[in-house]
Amino acid sequence: MALKPSKEIAAIQSFCRQCLGNSIKNIRDCPSRKCPFFPFRFGYSFPLEMEQAAIEKIFSYCLSCVGTGSEIIHCSDSNCALYHLRLDAVKHHFPKIFPTFYQTDLFSNHKP
Ligand code: SF4
Ligand code: SF4
Repeated sequence: MALKPSKEIAAIQSFCRQCLGNSIKNIRDCPSRKCPFFPFRFGYSFPLEMEQAAIEKIFSYCLSCVGTGSEIIHCSDSNCALYHLRLDAVKHHFPKIFPTFYQTDLFSNHKP
């Protein structure tokens, strides 16, 4: 029996479905080999080190989408398949400063 993918890998696969119109064939034939999600696009379970790399890939993608960690936290696109993991991604990338970020008034209205 196949192992269940992590929530990060599952979110990436949902994002790929959003990206290419929910078509498995299109996702399989995705031409964007440089996309950080390319190796994860089928949503399989992966070795632990790749599973752990997936959250950093999500951070990179969100950063390329909106430009800064602060803007990732402020993202309001709840339809995006990565939305529910964006705070985990920022926290993973900035483990020391995230609590400070998050406890300020500026961010207090953006808890999930
Ligand atoms: S790997 Fe990147 S470009 Fe390809 S379907 Fe996924 S998100 Fe889209
Ligand atoms: S969660 Fe927000 S910042 Fe991240 S990719 Fe989606 S829309 Fe962009």
